[in-house]
Amino acid sequence: MTETKIVVITGASSGMGEATAKLLAKDGARLVLGARREERLKILKSEVEKLGGQAVYGMTDVTDVAQVEALAQLTMQTFGRIDVWINSAGIMPQSPLADKRIADWDNMIDINIKTLYGIGAALPYMNKQQAGQIINVSSVAGHIAHQNSAVYSATKFAVQAISESLRQEMAAAQNNVRVTVVAPGAVNTELLSSVTDPQVKAGMAQFYDSFAISADRVALTIKQAIDLPADAAWNEVIIRPTNQIG
Ligand code: NDP
Repeated sequence: MTETKIVVITGASSGMGEATAKLLAKDGARLVLGARREERLKILKSEVEKLGGQAVYGMTDVTDVAQVEALAQLTMQTFGRIDVWINSAGIMPQSPLADKRIADWDNMIDINIKTLYGIGAALPYMNKQQAGQIINVSSVAGHIAHQNSAVYSATKFAVQAISESLRQEMAAAQNNVRVTVVAPGAVNTELLSSVTDPQVKAGMAQFYDSFAISADRVALTIKQAIDLPADAAWNEVIIRPTNQIG
């Protein structure tokens, strides 16, 4: 079903965003890839095309509303509609609050909660189309807070709240826009590279080495959420490694 869909992905340059682009490409999807690292996006575009999809990319910092709006405009100019907008961009520099890694706090709040800009960019077009789907990547940390996860969890709790309000607003508007939250547990991606506290990073790396699953599993979940008939929506999927406890 995804072959006819036009799908925008933020955070497309690595991890789950990249894996999702490659999986959807196999069905011939038309993709718009957003992230900051142009070289990675260029390579991904050619990989998508080899796999049978079409792709354009826009260098996009999700903290800059003009750049996110430009990604939506690029999509409209290239493909004429936006069927699915996936907000996957995010960082996870966890640390104890007492360490006051304030730059990390600010960056997480800015990047992870700026899922909002993606929603804002896509909605006017989806409203006009009377159809669409917003997929927000949250986390198990959007349900549970642990030591060191205060700010990261707070941003992911925020994504949960934003998504539920959005779902209710879309249903009230009767505009056929589906809202899906995908909340993964440990997934093997580049995310740990954003952790600045060496001790926390070492602990997380050990946990990830034991449990993390491939980003392909999350890509499959996203594809299944897209493929569901349009009159039904997975509003939230929690996907953990089978043996991950918390
Ligand atoms: P990666 O680090 O592999 O990917 C993160 C992506 O976000 C990259 O493409 C990066 O691209 C992009 N990104 C970061 N900052 C910005 C920014 N300011 N503007 C635009 N893009 C940005 O990690 P994951 O794939 O794991 O992360 C994807 C999402 O999944 C995140 O929201 C993360 O919180 C969430 N998640 C991850 C889990 C895991 O275990 N891996 C578990 C639960 C949730 P670039 O640097 O090129 O801009």
